[in-house]
Amino acid sequence: NKTKVLNLLSVSVLSVSAAVMASSPAVLMRLVASAYTVAEKAGTIVRKVLQSGELGIVEKTGANDLQTLADRLVQKSICASLSKSFPKVTIIGEEELPAEDAEEELLENGHSSLILQKSCPDQYASLKEEELVVWVDPLDGTKEYTEGLLDHVTVLIGIAYGGTAIAGVINQPFYNYQMGAGASLGRTLWGVLGLGAFGFQLQEVPDGKRIVTTTRSHSNKLVIDAVQAMEPHDVIRVGGAGNKIIQLVEGKASAYVFASPGCKKWDTCAPEAILHAVGGKLTDMHGNAYRYDANVKHMNSAGVLATLRNHEYYLSRVPQVVLQALPSD
Ligand code: AMP
Ligand code: MG
Ligand code: MG
Repeated sequence: NKTKVLNLLSVSVLSVSAAVMASSPAVLMRLVASAYTVAEKAGTIVRKVLQSGELGIVEKTGANDLQTLADRLVQKSICASLSKSFPKVTIIGEEELPAEDAEEELLENGHSSLILQKSCPDQYASLKEEELVVWVDPLDGTKEYTEGLLDHVTVLIGIAYGGTAIAGVINQPFYNYQMGAGASLGRTLWGVLGLGAFGFQLQEVPDGKRIVTTTRSHSNKLVIDAVQAMEPHDVIRVGGAGNKIIQLVEGKASAYVFASPGCKKWDTCAPEAILHAVGGKLTDMHGNAYRYDANVKHMNSAGVLATLRNHEYYLSRVPQVVLQALPSD
């Protein structure tokens, strides 16, 4: 009899926990699922502003540090939408904007049900909203956007917990734009540590081939010296931190080398999470990890070194002058 009661008890406990799991997915997965749809809406805004022909360009710190109407509208859209659904999450966006309510048409309250169906990695299953920090780059590759290099552009939403980038969403609004009218325009990549990354086909550069990707609009002597020191077979110069990480996971480049300050936490959080979710690595030029707590300094002062494989090789080639010029925090 006792066994029977126990059995009944465990059956009901099981069904209760199954019901709880089915009805309330982990906060992290809800946030990623919402960020996915919010990033797709962002991509739509980025395309619309371009079509309008009125980019509304403003110089921030100089001619190589721009903001457009798309940067402003997308940041409003992402921050207002996510903070409405997740009021206790800390959200940090790149652009300094006047504090005013976002227009209704900018709000997005949808989510990806495909993402919600995935189970949350155990280590993140009980995270609370107030423990999460979201880093938003509404438009990465603004300089290239204004120059018509459209596939360099991405929208970045990174999620951090305990200082670590644990999840990320990247929308590429103009993916496929050179493929003609038949091809579907834009895509969204996403990933969670311990779960994997989705929305693209993981590929590696053939073993032994070194293809370095780096900045095209923020170069200087240190940047060039560091790239050369890697003894690359090929160098690609493109805009955007998001874009360069996509090149790594799609087998177009084997290392992203940027030996300069300039990249900020919102540039690297989402890309780092996706790269790490498939076994890659993003560090500063010394091999030290960046932290993404809400109160960290925004600038990635010691540069960016990112790889899918063979991080140690690239680290071992970083010149002394670079290490001295760019101390880790
Ligand atoms: P890039 O590879 O030059 O496209 O840079 C990647 C990201 O870092 C972009 O968001 C850039 O705006 C930013 N960035 C890099 N260097 C600088 C810089 N010197 N000034 C302002 N932003 C920079
Ligand atoms: Mg950026
Ligand atoms: Mg930006």
